[in-house]
Amino acid sequence: MSRPAERGIRAQLVATAQALHQRGWVANHDGNVSARLGPDRFLVTPTATSKAAVEERGLLEVDGRGNRVAGSGRPFGELGLHLAIYAARPDVAALVHAHPPHATALACSGARLLDRPFIAEAVVSLGPTIPTVPFAPPGPAAAEALAHTARDHDAVLAANHGAFAWGADLEMAYLRLELVEHLARIAALAQATGGLHYLPDSALPALLQSRARAGLGAAADRAADHLAAAQKPVVACAPAPHSPTPTIAPGQQRSEVAALIREEIVRALRER
Ligand SMILES: [Zn+2]
Repeated sequence: MSRPAERGIRAQLVATAQALHQRGWVANHDGNVSARLGPDRFLVTPTATSKAAVEERGLLEVDGRGNRVAGSGRPFGELGLHLAIYAARPDVAALVHAHPPHATALACSGARLLDRPFIAEAVVSLGPTIPTVPFAPPGPAAAEALAHTARDHDAVLAANHGAFAWGADLEMAYLRLELVEHLARIAALAQATGGLHYLPDSALPALLQSRARAGLGAAADRAADHLAAAQKPVVACAPAPHSPTPTIAPGQQRSEVAALIREEIVRALRER
């Protein structure tokens, strides 16, 4: 990466860290921000520092195993969680973690209000689900759980902890975290004022296709692939010679095809 581009990322990382504090999404030394500088090089915030006090000269560079390669001081303790997500998602170049109050409240209550979509635009930006990963202290188990979830998602709640969001650059990661907090606030208000009503399932295919078309990264592409696979007609195995050939119309759903195959099997068993 050219030095001017790297300088831009350093300035943006500091601005992002300070924004976490300004928005009231962190307290004390909470929260951390990182950005990918190269194939095995990451820029990260220092440990034990208020996000209001992060400066460019305090940033550190680490490799993919978390070893410091530039800067003084120590990287934050949750670095292993960031590195696991980067390893699982080569398309991700920035990651933001904080404890935004509404999102963190949902992560602590176990209400799981963000498991299903209730605002169409948010499905395009973040997909149909913002999952909650079970509580685990920062370490290999937490890293593995986050990395596994990161394959299909761009933001998660971490139970009894906070929220993580990632993206192709720092702005995308930050805006995704902002959206998670906004959705959590809306969900909590809706729940308190009559109940949260979710989008109908029939609205999802078009929204997921829009998400994939917007080029929002591997999770968006995979969601569209899952959808296409679910909608693809499946060719049934050859029927017994004495059975009528089952006809499968183009676009027939997998569940219908499975039902057809089941009927075929039942008929073949009866005729034995
Ligand atoms: Zn944390």
